[in-house]
Amino acid sequence: MKGTKLYITQSAEGPKHDPYLCRSLIFLKDELKVEYKEGLYERMVINGTEILPQHLLFPLEEAFEIATGITVHQFQRYYERIHNPKRCPNCGSKRRKWMSGFPGEEFMMCYDCDRIIDCTFNEGAII
Ligand SMILES: [Zn+2]
Repeated sequence: MKGTKLYITQSAEGPKHDPYLCRSLIFLKDELKVEYKEGLYERMVINGTEILPQHLLFPLEEAFEIATGITVHQFQRYYERIHNPKRCPNCGSKRRKWMSGFPGEEFMMCYDCDRIIDCTFNEGAII
């Protein structure tokens, strides 16, 4: 897993009057970029090439595992481990709270010292 970067992004897709949330798991390692998109329909993008479930004889999740070496489930676990450290780096507290910033922006903050630990941005909230 060394040199690997994991991201999760959220955006809105579909018609403006009826958008739906699309979540992307992004796996980066060296020259490889694998994007696993969950939304109205699942698909994967490997270095710019889109792969749809109907292109495959096996589940898309398996293709993700073949491409990245980890399962979608492991991706989420690693991601959570990286982005949700067990303790606040400032005061050591384990308590968390979520705060809203600008539209679409959410901060995960330490409940005890108000330090921002992580933030997410949902483009769908402003489009
Ligand atoms: Zn703290």
